[in-house]
Amino acid sequence: MRTWLRNVRLATATIARGMYVTLHYFVQSLRRKSFTQFFEYPEKPVPVRPRYRGFHRFDLTTCIGCDKCARACPVDCIYIDKDKAAPPLKGFVVTGFKIDYTKCMFCALCVDPCPVDCIFMGSNHDLSTFGRDGCVVDYAKLPLEVAWGQATLNPTAVHESKRVSLPVWTKSAGG
Ligand code: SF4
Ligand code: SF4
Repeated sequence: MRTWLRNVRLATATIARGMYVTLHYFVQSLRRKSFTQFFEYPEKPVPVRPRYRGFHRFDLTTCIGCDKCARACPVDCIYIDKDKAAPPLKGFVVTGFKIDYTKCMFCALCVDPCPVDCIFMGSNHDLSTFGRDGCVVDYAKLPLEVAWGQATLNPTAVHESKRVSLPVWTKSAGG
């Protein structure tokens, strides 16, 4: 009998403790502001942690077309088009730098091997598109301030870049 009473008391206390936690969070969720009140998304971007791995940032003006990032990619979703540079220039001229975001898993393994630090994981996390074509982003056809600078990678810029046939920047003998 004593054991039975102890079990009943224990069960009641356990349920009460569980219900207290549930009630506590229920009241908190009633009191707190909604997500959009804090961040006003999409008008203002949601802040992310410094090491957040969002859509890439890529600098066409420093890329040397060495393919190290493409070779490091575990899912082979980086496609680099390049031509041999005409003398007196050396190396390659990068004419296309595509990343297929239907395959990319945002692992950042492409970032570390880059010898000139021209590819990074950015802080942008939204790139909604109407078709799969919009998921393949050619960074060599995006305006430099979108691909590398402060302007955000966005569906409109990606859509516009599909109409561009030549890279937005090519290296010249002057630098
Ligand atoms: S983040 Fe990972 S999966 Fe995406 S392109 Fe870089 S290496 Fe490939
Ligand atoms: S590793 Fe860097 S320099 Fe080499 S192709 Fe990739 S982005 Fe360009």
